[in-house]
Amino acid sequence: MTNICDKLIEEIEALNQNQPEFLQAVTEVSTSISNWYSQQDELQRARVFQRLAEPDRIISFRISWRDDQGVIQHNRGWRVQFSHALGPYKGGLRFSPDVTESVLKFLGFEQIFKNSLTGLPMGGAKGGSNFNPKGKSPSEIERFCHSFMTELVRHIGPDVDVPAGDIGVGEREISLLYGHYLRLSNKWHGALTGKGCSFGGSAVRTEATGYGCVYFCCRMLAHNNEGFEGKRVAISGAGNVALHAAEKALDMGATVISLSDSDGVLIFEDGMKEDDLERIKAFRGEGGRLSDSSIGSFHDGEKPWSLDSDIAIPCATQNELDGDDARNLVDAGLIAICEGANMPLTAEASSLIRENGILHAPGKASNAGGVAVSGLERSQNALRRSWSADRVDKELREIMTSIHDEIVGTDIEQENFSYVDGANLAAFKRVASAFQAYGAF
Ligand code: NDP
Repeated sequence: MTNICDKLIEEIEALNQNQPEFLQAVTEVSTSISNWYSQQDELQRARVFQRLAEPDRIISFRISWRDDQGVIQHNRGWRVQFSHALGPYKGGLRFSPDVTESVLKFLGFEQIFKNSLTGLPMGGAKGGSNFNPKGKSPSEIERFCHSFMTELVRHIGPDVDVPAGDIGVGEREISLLYGHYLRLSNKWHGALTGKGCSFGGSAVRTEATGYGCVYFCCRMLAHNNEGFEGKRVAISGAGNVALHAAEKALDMGATVISLSDSDGVLIFEDGMKEDDLERIKAFRGEGGRLSDSSIGSFHDGEKPWSLDSDIAIPCATQNELDGDDARNLVDAGLIAICEGANMPLTAEASSLIRENGILHAPGKASNAGGVAVSGLERSQNALRRSWSADRVDKELREIMTSIHDEIVGTDIEQENFSYVDGANLAAFKRVASAFQAYGAF
């Protein structure tokens, strides 16, 4: 780490103590840009990095809701509006008991750079609640979503902040949130994305993150004289991103050998078939767990990272792949990691992957397909039009290709090039130029 990076982190750490996830994300970006930033006297004088690491605002609120027994429960909700330098705030909502301010700040910070890479006019934000949707009845979920929106409505709008889904917030929750937004605001103007296709949602939004991740992976492999077809692909997670990454990977001729959840891993030693995936999607849609699956072999408490794989696509959550997992993957001869989740590798795992020269696509690039199609959903809402699935899929593929090509076009010397550094540098430059132009912003 160079001196300038140490200094930046020291300063930001002093202001953000006990926020490990946020500091991990800030450290990664500052390490990536440090060589370039150390030559940018004007940006340093204007304290651009330090200002960018400070959210525009954090809204924190209480959510009271009544459970099925009539008892009043309460949770904490947040919206971290990190930066609107490049466009209205944009980023998902996560409902999960492990949501904290640090987690949402890390996700909001990452989102600034991810949205910058898409080239679409979107700022960075993230929000959610420590509410645990698991085990709640549909009416409890509805009452919670309504109460959450009762507060959030004051802070969002198509030109202000446009939230979407994330862990624990799928199409059902977005629809409940949007329905309540309509009642409270009396305005139909697409203040949320990820809506159902028949009422303002975009075709391919559900699939976009997983599909986009595989498109990016194919492009990255081709650029490095490798192919995707026939490769053994280990995938973690069994949610929106994982299932659609698996679908596109099968479509592209790869052998998908795993899915996982917080209970363990489901292994397909000879590769999952399309029919297996359809059955998994169907029982997951009804709330089923992988451990109850009658296909593949389920291994309690294990992760997919001890399997013999060519490509790893982690699609569950942050820091799900640690140093030991990375060592296993390196020993098994891994060629590439393409992140579907946000920051799924610990700092130790990330260093090991880099030291061993493995291709590593960071989530802010490889999972940007979801927010890119959210951007397209906003455009369709503004135009009062709906585009066909083919058109949106084609645009998604073009956006993933252009993100890849912008990253490899960054002026990092070839022998030191990494996709992580390239993504951070390309994204940072665009946001920094806006900060510079805006003055004391
Ligand atoms: P979902 O809620 O649909 O699925 C999450 C999956 O990950 C579930 O199978 C869940 O299993 C599993 N999981 C969660 N925590 C753990 C854990 N600690 N260990 C093992 N498995 C775990 O979420 P998404 O698929 O939407 O999101 C997954 C990741 O992708 C997140 O990091 C998210 O931020 C990122 N992402 C999502 C986008 C989107 O469009 N949805 C866009 C860009 C990034 P279980 O049911 O057991 O908890």
